[in-house]
Amino acid sequence: MGCLLHASHVTPLPRAADSIRLLLIRSCLLSNDAMQPYSAFSLFRQAFSSHDSWSRAWTDSEPKKHYDVVIIGAGGHGLATAYYLATKHGVKNIAILERGYLGGGNSGRNTQVCRSNYFYPESAAFYDHSLQLYEDLAQDLNFNIMFSQRGNLELNHSLEELEMNRRWANAMSLNGIDSEMLGRKDIRKLVPILNLDCRFPVTGGFIQKRAGISRHDAVVWAFARAASAAGAAIIQGCEVTGFDNRGSRISRVETNRGAIEADCFALCVAGHSSQLAAQAGLSLPIESIALQAMVTEPIKPVLHTVVGSLVIHAYISQSDRGEIVIGGGADSFNSYAQRGVLSTMKDNASAVAELIPSFSRLRVMRQWAGVCDISPDSSPLVGKTEIENLYVSTGWGTGGFKAIPAGGDTLAYTIANDDPHELLQPFALDRFESGRLIDEGAAAGVAH
Ligand SMILES: Cc1cc2nc3c(=O)[nH]c(=O)nc-3n(C[C@H](O)[C@H](O)[C@H](O)COP(=O)(O)OP(=O)(O)OC[C@H]3O[C@@H](n4cnc5c(N)ncnc54)[C@H](O)[C@@H]3O)c2cc1C
Repeated sequence: MGCLLHASHVTPLPRAADSIRLLLIRSCLLSNDAMQPYSAFSLFRQAFSSHDSWSRAWTDSEPKKHYDVVIIGAGGHGLATAYYLATKHGVKNIAILERGYLGGGNSGRNTQVCRSNYFYPESAAFYDHSLQLYEDLAQDLNFNIMFSQRGNLELNHSLEELEMNRRWANAMSLNGIDSEMLGRKDIRKLVPILNLDCRFPVTGGFIQKRAGISRHDAVVWAFARAASAAGAAIIQGCEVTGFDNRGSRISRVETNRGAIEADCFALCVAGHSSQLAAQAGLSLPIESIALQAMVTEPIKPVLHTVVGSLVIHAYISQSDRGEIVIGGGADSFNSYAQRGVLSTMKDNASAVAELIPSFSRLRVMRQWAGVCDISPDSSPLVGKTEIENLYVSTGWGTGGFKAIPAGGDTLAYTIANDDPHELLQPFALDRFESGRLIDEGAAAGVAH
């Protein structure tokens, strides 16, 4: 048994009682003093006191000497893991160590697309669990995550690609996930501003209507607030700089704020996974590559669905503020620089101008990048490691925002029971020895 939690702290709940459990969690969270309810009534009440008595959304804690679980990285995955550990498995003595500020990594830098249009059954089951959790997340966490199921349209530009997309959409249907093939006429109706006769004319596409976008900061803040209310300590400005290994276990981590001991540790640091794992003596097959995005000045609503093209190579959506959010291919070399190169930015912008020529007149307001953790088969690496009490959540690459709720839920189960959650079993680290790869390069949506 890697983690001592199994014996001493865990209160497993039967899966059949899931909806009752969610109701209980919701009412417990809201009855907790640390979690002031966000409601029309609270808003109204606060209006009478100039909004000066809202409590802080989460507590900034000082490090203690020992925790049951230490999670490294306060991105979406680290925070969601802490939240589900505390609420579903009764583990209260948790610390989340973040070297910068929470959400300052990829979770606050992505293009917010949430979908489950994956090809293989293993991925479909995992990502659809995540999408289902997203559907109720605002209620569960009492936080408006601005989840908008506006659909995700993938275009095809040749008869060969049409066949590939048909195969993809059929695979989704076989996996029980909604998908619909669309012809040029349907696409013209859905996205009138699209240039169907671009350099590689659009021959059709397929849509997942349940897919959409969700405000990335809000998802991070919602999990931080709920995890903090459930008793987890969020420690920002606390960088892990080393591990103290005793035999096949880790006894403590070294940080810039002193050593911290724990029964078990989880690494949720995205593009820094291989660097940090190496310090613990673990070699991960992860490459770190910058993926960038940009937004234009805001305009009136013109784009009501997420549109992606693997051939022209860009994907776009319109945020609630009216900005056009643009994503595309990753940079073509490994890097830890969170800025991205100009040539990729230029390629992404010209791809969008090809798809929607009128957008070429828009000014770009902001551009940024995040360091993504890419695995050889573009699928996540999550679960136990050869170090008894070290768990990892990595390999999310360019698509781990949509996976945050399920990633946290299943990793929390794995840590609490020291046994992989059934949805995580295919994503274990040993698949690179056994050869049971899950090659989701195409479903990643962008080249890397
Ligand atoms: C431009 C861009 C667009 C994207 N678009 C999408 C999208 O549309 N849909 C989608 O599903 N996914 C998307 N992604 C991917 C998604 O953002 C990530 O997969 C996901 O956010 C990863 O979450 P995380 O919690 O694992 O990592 P992060 O959010 O990066 O969190 C890791 C945290 O670990 C901290 N850390 C690192 N080293 C240490 C240390 N030594 N000590 C303490 N803390 C440390 C970091 O500061 C960071 O806050 C995109 C990514 C980028 C960059």
